[in-house]
Amino acid sequence: MNSIDEIKNYLKENLSSERYFHTLGVMEEAIELAKRYNADIKKAEIAGLLHDNAKCMTKEDLRKFISENLPDLDKNELKNYKTLHAPVGAYFAKEKFKISDPEIISAIRWHTLGRVNMTLLEKIVFLADKIEKNTRDIEYRNQIIKILDENEGELGLNKALFRCFIETVKSLAERKLYICTTTIDVYNWLLEITEN
Ligand code: FE
Ligand code: FE
Repeated sequence: MNSIDEIKNYLKENLSSERYFHTLGVMEEAIELAKRYNADIKKAEIAGLLHDNAKCMTKEDLRKFISENLPDLDKNELKNYKTLHAPVGAYFAKEKFKISDPEIISAIRWHTLGRVNMTLLEKIVFLADKIEKNTRDIEYRNQIIKILDENEGELGLNKALFRCFIETVKSLAERKLYICTTTIDVYNWLLEITEN
């Protein structure tokens, strides 16, 4: 595996400064959440740091890369290019940054869409991406942290994620954008495990 400093240097050179600032925020937030929920702090740090490593690619490059290297990707996922840096980023994490841990790879892989039965590390990176301090809305962050504070253990994390999915579904529908079937499945799953 590349060292944290090597990865940081690569990201600093290849991402926009705003995206790099966001990346560092996600790394810090993922570490904090890992401490709170007794997850592996080192894995959270690396997954947070690498989650947007492919964000610098254009949608044409992402699509081309996927057709050549990830031909089995679910066709539903191809309909919104904004989520495509996740499977590509997971691929790079393995091939370019030599990350061999499957938990780190899957946290990067699912940070945009989420999935049913997400692992603890996947949940942590997903949420850290939404609420990090550097570039995300502070009001929204405070609301999410309140949910975490008010609920015992992983239930707080699940409720916070459900809140994120409510926002995602609303915002996609309001903009008349395609809602990936995975998103609906995750929404329904979170509803089921939090609301009764
Ligand atoms: Fe991302
Ligand atoms: Fe991100």
